[in-house]
Amino acid sequence: GQCITHCPVGALRERDDTEKVWDAIADKDTITVAQIAPAVRTAWGEALGLSREDATVNKIADALHKIGVDYVFDTSFSADLTIMEEGNEFLERFTKGETKLRPMFTSCCPGWIRFIKSQFPHLVPQLSTAKSPQQMFGAVMKTYFADSINVSPDRIFTISIMPCVAKKGERNMELFYEEYAGHDTDVVLTTRELTRMIRSAHIPPHSLENREFDRLMKEYTGAGVIFGVTGGVMEAALRSAYYLVTGRNADPDAFKAVRNDGKGVKSAEIQIGDAVVKAAVVSGLGNTRRLLQQIERGEVHYDFVEVMACPGGCVGGGGQIIHDGEELAYERGQSLYFLDKNAPLRFSHENPDVQKLYADFMGQPLSHRAHQLLHTDHQAWAMPRSDR
Ligand code: SF4
Repeated sequence: GQCITHCPVGALRERDDTEKVWDAIADKDTITVAQIAPAVRTAWGEALGLSREDATVNKIADALHKIGVDYVFDTSFSADLTIMEEGNEFLERFTKGETKLRPMFTSCCPGWIRFIKSQFPHLVPQLSTAKSPQQMFGAVMKTYFADSINVSPDRIFTISIMPCVAKKGERNMELFYEEYAGHDTDVVLTTRELTRMIRSAHIPPHSLENREFDRLMKEYTGAGVIFGVTGGVMEAALRSAYYLVTGRNADPDAFKAVRNDGKGVKSAEIQIGDAVVKAAVVSGLGNTRRLLQQIERGEVHYDFVEVMACPGGCVGGGGQIIHDGEELAYERGQSLYFLDKNAPLRFSHENPDVQKLYADFMGQPLSHRAHQLLHTDHQAWAMPRSDR
């Protein structure tokens, strides 16, 4: 996000972390575990000469295994987990009347977190305490997953493939679990770095096959996939909030009023049970600043606001292959909506692997353990000043 606005040559200045991944793969005592963010699948093929239909996320899984990564998962799984935590947190704040004055803001975009901390620090308490899907997945890989394969967290090396340069800074967040003190995420690679690794491993892109994700955290829903596009987090959260309040599912497309129509800001009033939730979605930091100023002046009121620093959301992120504007972001966003539309499951609360995670390990959303592993105190960690 930052790199679009401040750094038109992001590709040249970007730190290269691929060496760290090669080192971890070479270390026989280390178990490498990777996750791939939703937006990466819309763009990685562009640099390798694969068409959008050909460049599936399951081929990235194949590439990572061929490179030597031990386990590969889809961040859409932990996007569903984020919705469980953040959706419940929103309902708690909303029903207590805490959003009457100021909204709850989403917290999964580090470009936005850096912006709010530096420009509107008094609004930081309004951020959801939920960690982003990247961080939640890292925490779960080093605890729940590590337990399942019987190894200690310090043998697990977590890699995330992101559309985003700012995600490299988010990994500063710390993880404490029993005797373990470290980080949720050990290294973040951008989409560009991923394709560089595939090239340097001499894997012919057309030889890649669709490989399934690994067990335990394999399932994901359409709601998790649309995290990669502006409006997606809000829509996914509304789908689950509706279920939590009414005990039944709405039509999965009932909340599409929050989807991007190219203007950068979208708002909607959503009826959930007896209540009306005022929701807004904004992408791009210029639009965000204007919206926050309107909220501050009392010209508008919302209960829940989703913010993404990059215009169009992560599909237009600064770590993608090409980031030449909103048009491409819009097109990539449409591919995520297409995947959602055709997904067998479209509600985060119906993800069977997320349900199992709660049943076997986490208890309930917002439980003590969920707070320990899946939430953060935004005041307690800092984004580096730049992504380098
Ligand atoms: Fe990163 Fe997505 Fe935020 Fe852009 S919108 S800074 S890609 S998390």
